Amino acid sequence: MGHEKATPDSAHYRCVGVGVGPANLSLASLLHSRPEVRNLFIDRKESFGWHDSQQIPGTTLQVSMFKDLVSLSDPKSPFSFLAYLHDQGRVYHFLNAQFDDVPRLEFRNYLAWASRRNENIVFGEVVEEVGFDGVFTVRTDRRTVTADNIVVGVGNQPWVPVQGRRHLGATQFHVNDFMTSARNLGGKRVVVVGGGQSGAEAFSDLISRSGAELPRRVSWISRRRNYFPIDDSPFTNDYFMPDHSDYFYSLGAEARAAFNAQHILTSDGISESTLRDVYQRIYVHRFVEGNPDLVGLHPNREVVGVEAGAAGDWGITVRHNDKPDALEHFEADVVVWATGFRPAAMDFLAPIAHRLERHGDELRIDEDYAVCWDGPADRSIFVQNAARGQRGLADPNLSLNAWRSQRIADRLCGVRSDEQLASFIEWSTKTGTNVPWGA
Ligand SMILES: Cc1cc2nc3c(=O)[nH]c(=O)nc-3n(C[C@H](O)[C@H](O)[C@H](O)COP(=O)(O)OP(=O)(O)OC[C@H]3O[C@@H](n4cnc5c(N)ncnc54)[C@H](O)[C@@H]3O)c2cc1C
Repeated sequence: MGHEKATPDSAHYRCVGVGVGPANLSLASLLHSRPEVRNLFIDRKESFGWHDSQQIPGTTLQVSMFKDLVSLSDPKSPFSFLAYLHDQGRVYHFLNAQFDDVPRLEFRNYLAWASRRNENIVFGEVVEEVGFDGVFTVRTDRRTVTADNIVVGVGNQPWVPVQGRRHLGATQFHVNDFMTSARNLGGKRVVVVGGGQSGAEAFSDLISRSGAELPRRVSWISRRRNYFPIDDSPFTNDYFMPDHSDYFYSLGAEARAAFNAQHILTSDGISESTLRDVYQRIYVHRFVEGNPDLVGLHPNREVVGVEAGAAGDWGITVRHNDKPDALEHFEADVVVWATGFRPAAMDFLAPIAHRLERHGDELRIDEDYAVCWDGPADRSIFVQNAARGQRGLADPNLSLNAWRSQRIADRLCGVRSDEQLASFIEWSTKTGTNVPWGA
């Protein structure tokens, strides 16, 4: 019983963070220079990790390196990516390497470095229950502490559709387990399901293997009509600015939902460099190395059934979106589900869950990411990366990490930092003002 293990700890904090991924690590980094805001951040992992079992070799960050833990809010912070490079003595080497994008593993190493330099962060401890009795009581598997405020940053969990969920195991797995599970696939038939960045990276890795490690066939199924790129162009990137996040927050539920559906590729599309790699690999296999049967590309289709075959393989039934009556069948030895992530459960909030307002399947937040609830106004539960429906597609992304953390830090400190200049674009209607035509 967790209750018996927990020992009382007289420690009281201004802020306790649950989870230490990039979101709460950003806040912990910003608060590090504010000793008056006594804080503790707790993560259940034994040590820092960032999607470690999905660190596919050669993958890169999908955002600018300035979108690190702190720079966009506090460029003088000792927790920036540049500070990391400098601390490691490799700042010139990094420049001279002329990376088009930061290697994802290097960014992960930076995050781990930032977590090690912060004595307010602990690993290997699970938050099991958060209650409230004038202050928050945070019970972990080791102790109980109290806090004026809680910041939940538990991220997302791998998600597999029901067709695959019941078969998960050694030969059907989520792409999140790719580095540990996608081994010894030489000569096998592999199906990758999912047409986003993770699916593309898995597919690219599989068809890039050499010699005896190369699968016999790799098929790539996607619900989208084609393998679409992420839109990384200038005006689109203005969606990932603070003032657009605030504009989005001001919209009605219907407009928000329509926006997220319509502009999904601004966050969930595939990097052009990955698409180019995949296309070039296919060209070489087919026309240069004479291996025309390696690759199967099947977009615009949905997996509707998965059955175990007699020989320990899998039979996959797929429906074409334009011809729903014509079902197709694939045989596979291994299925990789690159079907995305969903917000992680927050079961530890159960003791106070009835006091928290909801907005669809999210907790309703105010403009500072504090959950609306019936408790005192000076006691808050903030949520990071759990409000895509209210804050838009930027919420799970690294782009606004530092800014969102600054908003929360400001609220904890009772101040409001200056914002950067607004977008060139007027997102909102200025009711009652004349827009000068031709001015
Ligand atoms: C492979 C991959 C690559 C990505 N690359 C990019 C990119 O290039 N650019 C970009 O903008 N976005 C990227 N993202 C999206 C996003 O940046 C990441 O998902 C990011 O990790 C989200 O950070 P987070 O802190 O919200 O959650 P997470 O990183 O998931 O961290 C949550 C933490 O909470 C801990 N936790 C959960 N429950 C408890 C509990 N009860 N007690 C204690 N600890 C708990 C977990 O152990 C975990 O460490 C990527 C996502 C993936 C999957």
